[in-house]
Amino acid sequence: MPNQQLPFTSDDAFLPYGRQCISEADIATVAKILRSDWLTTGPMVDQFEKAFASYSGSKEAVAVSSGTAALHCMIDSLGIGPGDEVIIPSITFAASANCVVYQGAKPVFVDVEPDTLLIDPAAVQAAISHRTRAIVAVDYAGQPCHYNQLQAIADRNGIALISDACHSLGGAYQGRPVGKLALMTAFSFHPVKPITTGEGGMVTTNDSQLARRMRSFRNHGITTDHRARTANGTWAYSMEFLGYNYRLTDLQCALGISQLERVDEWTLRRRKLAQFYDQSLAADNVAEPLKVRLDRTHAYHLYVVRVNGARESRDKVFARMRQKRIGVNVHYLPVHLHPFYQSKFGTVRGQCPVAERAYDELLTLPMFSELTKLQVSRVIRALHSSKSMAA
Ligand SMILES: *Cc1c(COP(=O)(O)O)cnc(C)c1O
Repeated sequence: MPNQQLPFTSDDAFLPYGRQCISEADIATVAKILRSDWLTTGPMVDQFEKAFASYSGSKEAVAVSSGTAALHCMIDSLGIGPGDEVIIPSITFAASANCVVYQGAKPVFVDVEPDTLLIDPAAVQAAISHRTRAIVAVDYAGQPCHYNQLQAIADRNGIALISDACHSLGGAYQGRPVGKLALMTAFSFHPVKPITTGEGGMVTTNDSQLARRMRSFRNHGITTDHRARTANGTWAYSMEFLGYNYRLTDLQCALGISQLERVDEWTLRRRKLAQFYDQSLAADNVAEPLKVRLDRTHAYHLYVVRVNGARESRDKVFARMRQKRIGVNVHYLPVHLHPFYQSKFGTVRGQCPVAERAYDELLTLPMFSELTKLQVSRVIRALHSSKSMAA
């Protein structure tokens, strides 16, 4: 089957900030599963898990229904609950923190580094208390965090380092692939993310005991699944703790297997596009890209720039770009500024000044694997005229 992509762009079409790539081969593989016996809890789940574990160089991979479910599985498997604290960077998607709240524990938001917007190890160290159980490292925009420093802090304090790699599939830290950089790593397969299964997620780990707990947690806390019971000719099962239905269907796993084959090609492609953006932006000071550390392979889920100046200036550029049908976005409102966290956990403006200042300037430009250089040029042109009009 040719790897033919579906058409969608004309020159003044709305250009989204992120978008899936679906080939005819992807469609054929899903159709095949629709005609098979197992739509869920079937053989595709094992196959996807094995392929993903092998890709990331980890022993185990546990497929779940979303990146959020993957994060929740990790927090549960560590036995984190009421009275416990988990450290999280304030610039991330809310789900990185929500998973801690699901388990009745307290998220502690820390600041990020000004140039990369990655979680600041010094801020992590300062936030450790006798209640701290884990650190969630978020590979913001697709750049792996400072794993060596974070692991050293985790080891010194006897706590777990876990990774939210929902942005960074395909990335690496000092030559080691994302997925084996922490005790457990969570991925998302939402359509804007590096690969998609519609909705979906995965946790990788080298710890078989944690993997077993997560496989049970995604299935109501029941120890055997439907297919195993069918194979054993038995109906009996026992629920041993409170779990959820976080299963990923065979349709989705088949799509995931097909998508995973193209991760490296797509990562390379986005890295080249990022380089093109970098070079185009270096010519003047219309907007400044975030910094990338030399020992990282950035997976560029997002291409984020800072529009220097006040909040108003970014907001004007944002509005002008949207008028030009360019789907710019802002990632993210710092999580501690969401009304839920302010009212339930007493978080306040001023507690993460670097993140708050960055938020006023952030702008996400379109970045996805099928974006063309021509489209990047269109974005750059639009940025120039939006900036001069906004000034
Ligand atoms: C997308 C995302 C999630 C949640 O993933 P879903 O699959 O949408 O549930 C969690 N953390 C980060 C950083 C994300 O970008």
